[in-house]
Amino acid sequence: MSRVMLDLAGVVKSYPGPQGARVPVLKGLSMSLTAGTTSAILGRSGSGKSTLLTILGLLDTPDSGRYVIDGTDTTGLSDRRLAHLRSERIGFVYQRFFLLGHLTAFDNVMAALQHGTPVPRRRRREQVMESLDQVGLADRGHHRPRELSGGEQQRVAIARALVRSPAVVLADEPTGALDERTTEGVLALLLGAARDRGAATALVTHDLQVAAMADRTLHLANGSWLDDQKAADADSHQRPGDQYA
Ligand code: ADP
Ligand code: MG
Repeated sequence: MSRVMLDLAGVVKSYPGPQGARVPVLKGLSMSLTAGTTSAILGRSGSGKSTLLTILGLLDTPDSGRYVIDGTDTTGLSDRRLAHLRSERIGFVYQRFFLLGHLTAFDNVMAALQHGTPVPRRRRREQVMESLDQVGLADRGHHRPRELSGGEQQRVAIARALVRSPAVVLADEPTGALDERTTEGVLALLLGAARDRGAATALVTHDLQVAAMADRTLHLANGSWLDDQKAADADSHQRPGDQYA
């Protein structure tokens, strides 16, 4: 049986709208992410992908619903506890890498070990080297980001995301800033390295070729999963909208 690393149940999120109204953005989303697997999340602009990622990343909390990460229910936890869990259990990979330009690749990865449960100094260096080695950059630790190609910079960011062997890896258009030739290699590296460490990965993309490399694809439409919405539409005998075309 595969271990469920992240479990969302009935998550609702709304933003303040005009005249005190609330604008619903996530309408009762449920999903489970399993260790060693990758889920691609697709959806049009405005469908709620970024909102979902901020919730998955513990950067914002749902209005209602449940979020359990590797057995820990996050409901009602203090901001401090949430920040700790985030540093400890979640690895982020961003479209634009977000490496610190004045730090070497080694120190960029090391930075991820500065928060959360302290790691002994000696063990820290080993972990950083293991992580750089895993992305094929063991010999580039002393380089600064500007001395690396885009693909190499994203590999450093992957090493940074994985250095604590997180429960969950969240990637937002991780190959969106890379050229086509680099995309497949970097993505394969991300998915393979996350799987080897037993993480569950969710990646947001609009690139169908990227989505095809995941184990499954989830379509977000108007704050619901498309299949749920199809079922709801069938129930109410509505004609499917153009979003299903
Ligand atoms: P996506 O990433 O799929 O494009 P978002 O999650 O960014 O979608 O946005 C979903 C909806 O929520 C959009 O209609 C957007 O205008 C709205 N929205 C996003 N963030 C906010 C916010 N901070 N305040 C109000 N509305 C927001
Ligand atoms: Mg977005």
